Amino acid sequence: MDKLRRGLMMIVAAPSGAGKTSLCRRLVSDHADLDLSISVTTRGVRPGEKDGRDYHFIKQEEMDKLIADKALLEYASVHDAMYGSPRDPVEKALSHGRNVLFDIDWQGAQRISARAPGDVVRVFILPPSMAELNRRLVARAQDDDDVIQRRISRAKNEISHWAEYDYIILNDDFDRSYAELVHIYHAEASRRARGLWISPFVDELMAEKI
Ligand code: 5GP
Repeated sequence: MDKLRRGLMMIVAAPSGAGKTSLCRRLVSDHADLDLSISVTTRGVRPGEKDGRDYHFIKQEEMDKLIADKALLEYASVHDAMYGSPRDPVEKALSHGRNVLFDIDWQGAQRISARAPGDVVRVFILPPSMAELNRRLVARAQDDDDVIQRRISRAKNEISHWAEYDYIILNDDFDRSYAELVHIYHAEASRRARGLWISPFVDELMAEKI
């Protein structure tokens, strides 16, 4: 049976280095009904990143135009660059009953949930310790020391918003954290309010001759 559904927006936020991106990528690759919102950003491409897969890397003028055209659901300045979530792909996905995952910061989480509170679920990923966060950022070795230090202080700022989220996952073990994220996704996507198919189906059940 083709089940008509109301799409869900799932926001996953975390300080950088908490393992958020790996968790999000795996959730999307394991779920055919979930699209990842690919953000636009004015920051430079890091080694290993691909335009169109990790981000749409754009110039500041293009960002200004997207903002002026109201083509972004939200945008924010993070780590001295600008980031935004393109509106079109999200609206298309939701209108087809698909779910959308956002890998964004606390500012984006606030803005998207203010717009559509009933369709948003917010998850925050905590690192097991600041020492571990630092170790992961250094191991990543894509940024110089100065950038890493600034990321640590921004991480603290990001963590200070933890109480604005519906679910908190402590990422001290990837597999366990991933399992928690999957449970949250399935539970939230199965809420009665998302199942537009349920009421007509129950009518059919009731009318069925036995
Ligand atoms: P990074 O540069 O390390 O990929 O990302 C820096 C931060 O910006 C991360 O917390 C990431 O989740 C956040 N971010 C990425 N895309 C967006 C976006 O479209 N909007 C907002 N508000 N934050 C974003």
